[in-house]
Amino acid sequence: MDKKIIKQLAEIVGVEHVSDDPIELMVHSRDASPIFGEIPSVVIRPGNTSEVSAILKFANENKICVLPRAAGSVTWGASVPNKKGLMVIQMSRMNRVLDVDEDAMVATVEAGCTWSRLERTINPRGWKVAIMPHGAGMIAGVGANVALNGYSMASGGNGMQGDHVTGLEVVLPTGSVVRTGSWAMKGCKPFNSKIGSPGEITRLFLRSGNIYGVITKVALRIYAIPPAKDYLMHSFKSISALVRAAYKIQKYELSSGFQMITKEIVGTTGWPIPIENMIWGSVEGCSPGVVDEKMKMWRQIVESEGGTEVDQTVARIFGAELEDNRIHRYTWANEAYFPGGGRFQILGSVPINRIEEFLEITYGIAIKHGLHCFGLCQFERNSAHMFTVMPYYEKDPEQRQKTLDVGTEAIKAIADAGICLSVLDGVYSPSYDYLDPQTFKLTKSIQKTLDPNNIMQVPWEIGGKTR
Ligand SMILES: Cc1cc2nc3c(=O)[nH]c(=O)nc-3n(C[C@H](O)[C@H](O)[C@H](O)COP(=O)(O)OP(=O)(O)OC[C@H]3O[C@@H](n4cnc5c(N)ncnc54)[C@H](O)[C@@H]3O)c2cc1C
Repeated sequence: MDKKIIKQLAEIVGVEHVSDDPIELMVHSRDASPIFGEIPSVVIRPGNTSEVSAILKFANENKICVLPRAAGSVTWGASVPNKKGLMVIQMSRMNRVLDVDEDAMVATVEAGCTWSRLERTINPRGWKVAIMPHGAGMIAGVGANVALNGYSMASGGNGMQGDHVTGLEVVLPTGSVVRTGSWAMKGCKPFNSKIGSPGEITRLFLRSGNIYGVITKVALRIYAIPPAKDYLMHSFKSISALVRAAYKIQKYELSSGFQMITKEIVGTTGWPIPIENMIWGSVEGCSPGVVDEKMKMWRQIVESEGGTEVDQTVARIFGAELEDNRIHRYTWANEAYFPGGGRFQILGSVPINRIEEFLEITYGIAIKHGLHCFGLCQFERNSAHMFTVMPYYEKDPEQRQKTLDVGTEAIKAIADAGICLSVLDGVYSPSYDYLDPQTFKLTKSIQKTLDPNNIMQVPWEIGGKTR
């Protein structure tokens, strides 16, 4: 990038927070997906909201495209640059916990604050967040997971990240700063983002945060750590019986966290116990008696569908491991699942009753092309957040390309079957081809209104070409 521009950016954030070092640029051309993005021309690290605003105003004046980013841990290419010459706004310096308001049950943080930093602050006071993205919480930014409306195994009982956001501070593409929820009302703190309140726009930025602006602060509901909690694990010979049991467990709202792992993955863990297709869940309550009642009903449901209980000690160890933010939940499994280091993930929320069909389509296409495929899901309240994984050898470019092509074929087949994939808006995903044209038109026109100079990276543009 032109040294004059770098100098002007350094005047906004300080010279030590702007970089065009080739290694730094290369790191910011990748995320945790198999996608090789374009190399950005500069990486800038703002320290506060005013600096983010000044950066966006500068980008407008100089027609520089920008992409906000924190840890870059998304697995579907949402944080890689899709055009040359772009500026990455790296949010990791904005990492403070600003307020823990126990009376309002809300914590407010800067967008680059990591989930583990937030939990380390509130856990000792007896509070937790609803949706801790356990897999990446050590490094991932709160603002990023809100912008993605993330999920976790706690989604079974708690829904998605956006369900717990009580207010946002966002710098719009033109550089003006807005607050949402009750925070937008004169003199109010961010305790609530009720739909129907005057001017309530929080949801505009959930899932689309990086299209409509840069989230700089997030206010989130916090919850008391429950007095009683326990874990259950069951094994099923057939996926259809598992799905029927899972549907009833969700229907009666028994789980606080809930996930399914198919036998292909269980088989790689090396556990010295016989488990086939597995469900694992946590149950929470205000007393041990309440938890016992829920677990009794859970067991009855599972047994009526032919599932068998796995020793509860295993369920408890598995739960402790999953919920400990310091243990990367795929660390132990990574080597087993992905010996070649690379994997293409097909992600998306699907109706519970279509899990089996989803697996059949993706497995079928992978097998047809001689690839492996594994399936798991975290249940949401009334749906399932699926991950089907196609592993490949990272160092083999042909195999990488083949896996990308086969994965894309599977995504299209799933979409053609009318199974909604709500999460697939990674840069190279075909999901916009399936969006209703009028809805797509509206999305683009909102974006155009907020971003008249088209400086934000949008997922429907690749290398300057618009879908
Ligand atoms: C092993 C593994 C396990 C994972 N498990 C989970 C899980 O359980 N739950 C889950 O939800 N995800 C999970 N993920 C996906 C990902 O790690 C998370 O979604 C994480 O929250 C992304 O945070 P990040 O800081 O890495 O975001 P980045 O990758 O840096 O950014 C993600 C997206 O958010 C946008 N963005 C970043 N910051 C801002 C901002 N301030 N304003 C506007 N837009 C912004 C970026 O442009 C990009 O589109 C997992 C990933 C891995 C590799």
